[in-house]
Amino acid sequence: MSAVDLYDKPSNNFSDLVNDSIALIQATQLKHAGAWTQANSLGAEDVVVTHLLHMAGALKTSDTSVFVLDTQRLHAQTLSLIAALEHRYAISVRVFQPQVEQVLALVKRVADNGIYESKAHRLDCCNVRKMQPLTHALAGQVGWITGLRREQSNTRSVASSLEQETTRLKLNPILDWTWGDVWHFIAQHQLAYNPLHDAFFPSIGCEPCTRAISVGEDFRAGRWWWESSDSHMPAKECGLHVQAATPLVAATTPTEQST
Ligand code: SF4
Repeated sequence: MSAVDLYDKPSNNFSDLVNDSIALIQATQLKHAGAWTQANSLGAEDVVVTHLLHMAGALKTSDTSVFVLDTQRLHAQTLSLIAALEHRYAISVRVFQPQVEQVLALVKRVADNGIYESKAHRLDCCNVRKMQPLTHALAGQVGWITGLRREQSNTRSVASSLEQETTRLKLNPILDWTWGDVWHFIAQHQLAYNPLHDAFFPSIGCEPCTRAISVGEDFRAGRWWWESSDSHMPAKECGLHVQAATPLVAATTPTEQST
């Protein structure tokens, strides 16, 4: 059974959600002109957001780009989606990798299994392979666009669709979509998606830090499954989406769950 067969289950107001997301992208980019870039993790939500940018006409302009953080620990199935995106939308995806010197120093500090033995070591790895490249990806951008959804985690449930971070904006156009909406959109538009989703990987990150989940497990249970939350970092987060931000659009109540 494919992920589409399993999860395609739209909310009653699915059409409104799609229209609202496109309108939000267009209105935000009109009001806040300049360079915008989508953080595409090559998971289900992010292929949806890239297609919404296409529908909104944003990918036709040189002001909107798509980037991938290639940590050099991604699954081959994940990386193969880059070519599919470039082909479908006639774009050049910006790919950011960690600096060689920083990786060499990291490997000296953190042994192969170190990320499983110490949260500090795991965050060190995330910092070198994700956070530092993210800084380069976001340099000079007015704002970035994500595929965050409220129902992904408690941390994300309080996000706003448009936020002001310290130096740039953050747009979350599918914040109120359900997992069923994401898969209905993928099926409706025949989007290429990561085949790991067909193998019970709802949330996909680096290969050493992602596993399949079982029936009844939390959506992000397969990410950093050996860790628990602490005062430095919420569980199931690498730091990309835990920066302080001020809502610019009033938080809405979560939409009606899928039927
Ligand atoms: S998710 Fe795992 S492998 Fe990827 S950067 Fe973080 S610790 Fe390293």
